[in-house]
Amino acid sequence: MKLTEDKLIFWGTRGGLPSGEITSAKYGLATSCVELSFSDRHIILDAGSGISLFGKQIDLNDRKPIDILIGHYHYDHLIGLPFFLPLFNGNHTVRIFLPELEGKHGIEAIDKLISPPLFPITRDMFSDNVSFHSFVPGETLTLGLHDTIETSLFPHPGQNCGYRLNRRGKNTLCYISDIENNSDSTLDDVIKFIKNCNHLIIDSSYTKEESKSRKGWGHLNLDDIEIIASRLPGVQIYLYHHDIFKTDSQVEMDSRNLLNEYNNVKLAKQLDVVELS
Ligand SMILES: [Zn+2]
Repeated sequence: MKLTEDKLIFWGTRGGLPSGEITSAKYGLATSCVELSFSDRHIILDAGSGISLFGKQIDLNDRKPIDILIGHYHYDHLIGLPFFLPLFNGNHTVRIFLPELEGKHGIEAIDKLISPPLFPITRDMFSDNVSFHSFVPGETLTLGLHDTIETSLFPHPGQNCGYRLNRRGKNTLCYISDIENNSDSTLDDVIKFIKNCNHLIIDSSYTKEESKSRKGWGHLNLDDIEIIASRLPGVQIYLYHHDIFKTDSQVEMDSRNLLNEYNNVKLAKQLDVVELS
């Protein structure tokens, strides 16, 4: 097994709603979904519309298990799930990990979204190889031989679970989408959680100006990211969950100063592949 087989793939980088605008295509039309493609499994973070793109291209002969970790139950993080072909074809073993948020089991949210009148079918149509696993944020999950995943709650309406994946003690990647800086301790908590990781994928929906009129909407702004980037220069940060109404040129314009000043910050683009070494 070579470490160079390990890849990070952005299947969906948009927040809120899939975009259909060609002027937004560079930084992403599909909503939140990231794949960690490893030699022994696929780990999927969130099931926004981007997961349908992953499911469409996966080889039927690829028998690696697929583990899906959901951060929270807002629909932009779930709408791709009933369009994820490996749930139906019986060729793949799929485990879906659901954090308990505000004391509720995530399966309730899944059943609301994937049932009439919101959707024509229910999860009874999924193959027998699909299973759901509930956990309480704060628990550490073990996936196979090589991966442990630390989990932690972060502020967002309805709460959000962040993930810290430790791959053979290397290639540590953190995923926190979505999160709002709504207390004196929020950024300190983030920094504590991500410290010494190699990669961080994080909500960066707004500019500071935009966030003033969007308090309670649940998202970070680029000034919050600057604080994280300056305090942890060794962490490669990917700006993620681009606001639905932003065109590619707006996304670039808003983040230009941050990208110029910090070489550890990049914009996440749909279909970008990062070799993890
Ligand atoms: Zn979202």
